[in-house]
Amino acid sequence: MTARAIASRARLLGAPLDRALTSARATWSERRGLVLTLADDAGCRGQGEASPLSGFSRETVNDCLAALDSVHERLAPVDLSAAPVAAIEAALFPLERELAGVPAARFALETALLDLVGRRLGRSIAACLAGHEPHEPVPLSGLVALGEDAAERARALVARGVRTLKVKVGLRPFDAELAALLALRRELREPFALRLDANGAWPLEGARARLDALAPLAPEWIEEPTSAEGLCELGATAVPWAADESLAEPTLRAFVLERRAPSCAAVVLKPALLGGLLHARDLALRARAAGLEGVVTHLFDGPVAVAACAELALSLPAPRAAAGLDAHAGLAAYPTVALPQLAGAVIVPSGRAGLGLPLLDPEPLG
Ligand SMILES: [Mg+2]
Repeated sequence: MTARAIASRARLLGAPLDRALTSARATWSERRGLVLTLADDAGCRGQGEASPLSGFSRETVNDCLAALDSVHERLAPVDLSAAPVAAIEAALFPLERELAGVPAARFALETALLDLVGRRLGRSIAACLAGHEPHEPVPLSGLVALGEDAAERARALVARGVRTLKVKVGLRPFDAELAALLALRRELREPFALRLDANGAWPLEGARARLDALAPLAPEWIEEPTSAEGLCELGATAVPWAADESLAEPTLRAFVLERRAPSCAAVVLKPALLGGLLHARDLALRARAAGLEGVVTHLFDGPVAVAACAELALSLPAPRAAAGLDAHAGLAAYPTVALPQLAGAVIVPSGRAGLGLPLLDPEPLG
């Protein structure tokens, strides 16, 4: 039995944000993306989202819109009797080349196919990816900005049961950030794991000394302490680091997976940057085989993409590292959708087929 896509539509989403989002790499005053809806010959639908992020993504929303125009006409049929991952790879095969430069569009199309196949088979996307329904929850990490209310925000997260806090650094002078982090460690009585993220802000010459200075904080790791080229030169460091956006560079990806980076402890997986759930899962499994943690995070994207990332996190083998998929401020730019995977401090199996979400674009497909 096959599922043949007979119609598709990509519809733009997004809005300006009341409060801008900030990292060391860029500031965003709006979030925009698209939702792709696919319909098959049995009347079933699936949806996916592409919300590329300026400063991180190489493509724009309009590039994704162009890549996904009438995309159903170029998909091969999906073999519903085959393993879902192999069936979706085969369905995408005719599009491999044209989607190579638009990873967020590939993510949207893959998600829509997985949603559709999951609904046809009565399985969650996590089950389609892993081959069995997951049962165990995945812990969430929570984001804390280093401002006046940092301790208050951190306490609220810990009170909710979140035990891994992540702080963006590289935004202010290093000494000020270090003092604020030390104060946060002092002020919070409850134990918590600390992750930092410099988004490549520090030059290689200064990065090693800064990593030395961070050692008293005992962070789990710091993401992207310097540029992709710098990470290859960093050598052994006082605190572990993690590769995130630089994984889009094939050279850095190979460098990390071949364990040529002695202090690299983890890879951070953003399906919108890595070209979808299948590529991200493959990278997570290869990282695990190399002794590295695999952490799934969002790209400040909308509800369909966040739900898809949660399904990916659920599909990974235990033990799973805390995932950076807590509800985020960028969701305010998208239609409000309850995410069945997010439950307090953990990601839980949705108990629903496919993505487990209502269709964001439920109108008939022309
Ligand atoms: Mg990061």
